[in-house]
Amino acid sequence: MARGGRQSQGEPVDWVTRAADDAVRHAGEGNLVTVASGASPSGPIHLGNVREFITPHFVAEELRRRGVPVRHLHSWDDFDRFRKVPAGVPPEWADHIGRPLTAVPDPWQCHDNWSEHFKAPLQDALRELGVEMEEISQTEMYTSGAYRDQVLGAVSRREEIEAVLARHRTRKVSAGEDASAQEVADLAESVANEDDDPAATGSAEAIARFPYRPYCRECGRDTVITTAYDDATTTLSYTCLSCRLEATTDLSCDNDGKLVWKVDWPMRWAYESVNFEPAGRDHMTPGSSYTVGTEIVSSIFDWRAPARVIYAFVGFAGMQKMSSSAGGVPTAIDALRILEAPMLRWLYVRRTPTQAFDVDFGPAVVRLYDEWDALGRKAADPEKSDVATLAWHRASATTSGGLLPTPALVVPFRTLSSVADVTAGSAEHISRIVESSGFPHDSVAELEPRLTKAMQWTVEHVPAAERTTVRETPDAERLASLTEDEELWLRILLDRLPDPMALDEVTALVYGVPKVTLGLGVEDAPTDQVKADQKDFFRLLYHLLVAKDRGPRLPTLILALGPETVRRLLTPPA
Ligand SMILES: [Zn+2]
Ligand SMILES: [Zn+2]
Repeated sequence: MARGGRQSQGEPVDWVTRAADDAVRHAGEGNLVTVASGASPSGPIHLGNVREFITPHFVAEELRRRGVPVRHLHSWDDFDRFRKVPAGVPPEWADHIGRPLTAVPDPWQCHDNWSEHFKAPLQDALRELGVEMEEISQTEMYTSGAYRDQVLGAVSRREEIEAVLARHRTRKVSAGEDASAQEVADLAESVANEDDDPAATGSAEAIARFPYRPYCRECGRDTVITTAYDDATTTLSYTCLSCRLEATTDLSCDNDGKLVWKVDWPMRWAYESVNFEPAGRDHMTPGSSYTVGTEIVSSIFDWRAPARVIYAFVGFAGMQKMSSSAGGVPTAIDALRILEAPMLRWLYVRRTPTQAFDVDFGPAVVRLYDEWDALGRKAADPEKSDVATLAWHRASATTSGGLLPTPALVVPFRTLSSVADVTAGSAEHISRIVESSGFPHDSVAELEPRLTKAMQWTVEHVPAAERTTVRETPDAERLASLTEDEELWLRILLDRLPDPMALDEVTALVYGVPKVTLGLGVEDAPTDQVKADQKDFFRLLYHLLVAKDRGPRLPTLILALGPETVRRLLTPPA
């Protein structure tokens, strides 16, 4: 089989396989494949943005698996302008609007600048997710003059570039007639992005559309109008609208500006020989940066637009309180507090990027863990290999790091979280109860990283009303007014309560008490009367133990409370 091709025709095929095929085709068999991602560290990088990084990561991993030379190049668009002051930031930061993100101070004072503050947590999350990329800073690239030839080339051919941009502007206006509300909104968004140009309405309209914009030498903002450009001397003259400076900059030796986004992006595709890059839906509207970039990259920069996938929105649901500084928008770090790293990878790899989905922080987390564990058992059997198990394998390991951390002993998340809920106790305490629930192990470490995530989920995402609060003192009033049956149930339960307790004994006892009361054996099949009594008995226990009608599974609850507390709360006053 040719180098770069799929390894086996019998293997299941998913979107990663197809995207990797496209990337190899773009690069040409046997050549280095460059997959790319890019992000502007202007604010918290939320779970939706993770698709930008993780999509090329999976493609790169597939290519490494095939033995194809590949690099994942990630661009930090940190030379972008600071656009607006988010909530929670001192209003005086408005002074920095228009400056590069790397020139804006960190209001929280924990990093070198604004951009580093938002890069750092994402870099931590990506490390935990096993995503390795070659990171480049656009501030460094531009200010080192790396793009000098590309900038001079684009500026010298500015009329051709403007012709392409103008054609798409016209198309957008004429598309208005029978466009849907969403399309109109998309268009408005893309126009706003393209013409994110404070000087675009300046007096010299043609010059204002200049493909390169310097940051003002005096005040550092990009609020400049280009007033003249001399092709012979490559000298650009500008006036700053903020500080009124009139100055010149020589594009042959000064490095104080950047190409406008719609020219910048295709320039970098060519500069880095990008073969594959995902793009969010917002880049894919008519006249958008991708559409325009596709034309500009071939006409100006002699490269072809990379193969791509368009990725859809990732939302979130079921959040209680969020620890993030994202103003309620969860980041990868937030998700990793409750999900094992392979599971978070799995959420992104199991669906095609065009499918939108929600990361659900609520009760769905418990079902998600069950689903993941079941898939893991299926994936262990090569006979059952299919697209679903392929996604499991892609999620579980990386070519350089091997298996990502998972617990040595897989205990259902629902068990860990309900024990964490009931005990509100330490990991060691939880570990002992889990042990008597039929999961023997030597140390807490065998339950990690899942145990910590279950504890965090319980505290951070289970609503207070659904948390279990064990009574501190017995409900004396209720205990004094027990019916004859109720009194008998409690007496049998306490008489037979094992000490030390094990889950199967406690389970048999809890279900058996109403049977024994009716003269049946503990092991006998339940009659209709037994079933009705069990229901009443369980409700009584929940009421007396946790002051509610329901709660975590009773055997787990009793185990977690221990015989002493159970006796104290269930014994009627003498
Ligand atoms: Zn900081
Ligand atoms: Zn200025």
